[in-house]
Amino acid sequence: MARYTGASCKLCRREGKKLFLKGDRCLSDKCAVSRRSTVPGQHGAGRKTVKEYGLQLREKQTARRYYGVQEKQFRGYYKDADKMSGVAGENLLQILERRFDNVVYRMGLASSRKEARQLVRHAHFTLNGKKADIPSIILKVGDVISLKDKSRSSEKFKALTEGATVAVTPKWLEVSDDNFTAKVIALPQRDDVDFPFEEQLIIELYSK
Ligand code: SF4
Repeated sequence: MARYTGASCKLCRREGKKLFLKGDRCLSDKCAVSRRSTVPGQHGAGRKTVKEYGLQLREKQTARRYYGVQEKQFRGYYKDADKMSGVAGENLLQILERRFDNVVYRMGLASSRKEARQLVRHAHFTLNGKKADIPSIILKVGDVISLKDKSRSSEKFKALTEGATVAVTPKWLEVSDDNFTAKVIALPQRDDVDFPFEEQLIIELYSK
């Protein structure tokens, strides 16, 4: 399935939640969810009853859209999470949090995950000192991400590090004072995920 290229705010309105897809705008009074809480579409305002399957589907879509992951890849993450020891739902969130693009966002070097994905693709970063431009790489404990030297002087990154307001650096990441380097020092735990996912619903959906 092709990547969604429509309006990001529509995705939030569909889920009825702020998914923080547009950086600082999400914290402003211009946020579409704050202004208009109905589901997009002609019959959006009339949709009320949601059954069990609908709840599971919406939770999966929320997580997929929040992290900007396509369906096939998301299902793959579920399969990996299910094989790991521990609670499958928590494993799934742990995998999603360790995506390269999410870590760049958590470092405060992008105002949204979408922007982080683009920056990774444009090869602004190294992983353990080597070129890395694949946003879906899942980082391991001990991995070090650095912004390339030639990108550090760019006005864009200076502005981002000074104005980063959306991302909160989690305790599993050790970020340098200038935000240009980060090391994964632990695996993310459930309480490191600052979004109220009901991940068990996602597991129930895929386990059918
Ligand atoms: Fe979602 Fe941000 Fe748009 Fe609000 S401004 S609807 S949080 S993408």
